[in-house]
Amino acid sequence: MLERDFQSITHPDDLVADQEQQRALLSGAVDSSEVEKRYVHKDGHDVWVQFGVSAVRSDDGRVRYFIAQCHDVTARRRFEQELAHRALHDPLTGLPNRALFLDRLRHALVRLRRHRGEIAVLFVDLDRFKLVNDALGHRMGDEVLMEAARRLSEAARAEDTVARFGGDEFTILCEAADEEAAREVAERVLEQFACPFSQDDHEFHLSASVGVRIGGPETGDPDILLRDADIALYAAKEHGRARLELFDPASSTAGVDALMTEQALRLALRHGELCLHYQPSVDLDTGRINGVEALVRWQHPQRGLIPPGEFIPIAEETGLIVPMGEWVLREACTQLAAWRRAGTVASDIRVAVNVSARQLSSPGLAEAVSEALELAELDPCALCLEITESAVVQDPGVALRSLRAIKDLGVFIALDDFGVGFSSLSQIRDLPPVDVIKLDRSFTAGLGQNDSDGAVVTAVLSLARSLGLTAVAEGVETSDQLGRLRGLGWDVGQGFYFAKPQAPDDIEQLLATGMALPAESSVDGDGVRS
Ligand code: C2E
Ligand code: CA
Ligand code: CA
Repeated sequence: MLERDFQSITHPDDLVADQEQQRALLSGAVDSSEVEKRYVHKDGHDVWVQFGVSAVRSDDGRVRYFIAQCHDVTARRRFEQELAHRALHDPLTGLPNRALFLDRLRHALVRLRRHRGEIAVLFVDLDRFKLVNDALGHRMGDEVLMEAARRLSEAARAEDTVARFGGDEFTILCEAADEEAAREVAERVLEQFACPFSQDDHEFHLSASVGVRIGGPETGDPDILLRDADIALYAAKEHGRARLELFDPASSTAGVDALMTEQALRLALRHGELCLHYQPSVDLDTGRINGVEALVRWQHPQRGLIPPGEFIPIAEETGLIVPMGEWVLREACTQLAAWRRAGTVASDIRVAVNVSARQLSSPGLAEAVSEALELAELDPCALCLEITESAVVQDPGVALRSLRAIKDLGVFIALDDFGVGFSSLSQIRDLPPVDVIKLDRSFTAGLGQNDSDGAVVTAVLSLARSLGLTAVAEGVETSDQLGRLRGLGWDVGQGFYFAKPQAPDDIEQLLATGMALPAESSVDGDGVRS
């Protein structure tokens, strides 16, 4: 016999709901009702119960008694809470994750519009964390991240949100913080990282850089705050690391084209603004699609879709092409794997990825290729790298070594834009085993227009035949060109006549049909297909 009434053991926060349930039943408004509520166990912990009550009435409708059923659902509730927590927190450090941070930032901005004032976003990045991770291993790397999280929480004020944004990047949201308050927090962060870390028997220094962006009621967009804090962080790194930098609106808009700077591109990569479009290549005999080429674009939030010709050269020049190229590799492999799994493409469809000179002469290319393949769980023979001979010529030593390593993996290699370098026909025998020659589209354009282009097209095809390579014609735009290529016995074509490069969602339907030529494709005339 329980010597206490239910109310005295009901959790204080659930009393109101409990009373409402009783009232509804007693008043006759409902005949039964079910709630989930907490009781407080005598040892103090909460017990979640599912509490169902039904009224039993006499003939005149008056309530005679209630039947109550009570299930302990604590385990299920805990599990749900755990799931909810996991969705919003970083499992390693226990800190809020990016999603929760963004949510809090959004709410803070809404409050700011109502109540005015200022907030600050701090972007914190550990300097040279990768070295620590590589030198000490991932387990120690994890320990360092946990310790860093602890130090950051120490530096922040109790009411601030410290989040793990990803990798070794952390963010801090300081509400009701003007420039001075934000600087104080940022300086405490730097101080926290002034003392050495010690893990097992190792002691080492690991500094942090901090970028700060102050926001007012007029800054409506969380992305802008984060982006600017990130720009300031980058400035802190540029100025020697282990320091803080406040976002300076004046400096970020300076310059002729602020968009086409290394920094803008770096942020585009980081903020997921790059995307890949895909263009099929087509077996000219059968009209069957036998592969897709991945072509990168920059989906700029204000300026729209920017073609690679406008930013690849800057990425090349600054070296950013290396991480950018790694992203392209991973993305292209992952996409093809997804299409294969979904049955959108057959299992012999290959994806081609362009590789520039700088990538070819950077030593990690082969490793990046095998990582991308592993990540996507893709067969090496599903990938083809497109290189240009001018890229190989730039640093033949490293390039040839990389290419052999890549070739050994089982990845295919294509010579892109073939024919535009004068050395083409003489040097090809010195190259590593190449599988495909892609004839530059200027020759395809000249087919039927001038004799010399026709002669090159014929010569390249016989070269390909003698070396056992697949010959691909780029830039096929008309049925006349298609007809002439077929007449010569050309293997594969690619160009607007078959399909323009398109976003994955847009090209899926075409890929699923497997065919890129209408049945009556041997038609004459030279109209461009729409
Ligand atoms: P590319 O490798 O020669 O790629 C073929 C280019 O020709 C693409 O331009 C494509 O849209 C265009 N094209 C295809 N069919 C036709 C046609 O029938 N007529 C005409 N006029 N053009 C056609 P896009 O996408 O602007 O790419 C330009 C170049 O940028 C590429 O030339 C490639 O060198 C480079 N690129 C693209 N994506 C990447 C990448 O992920 N990494 C690197 N390193 N370079 C890339
Ligand atoms: Ca290409
Ligand atoms: Ca090309």
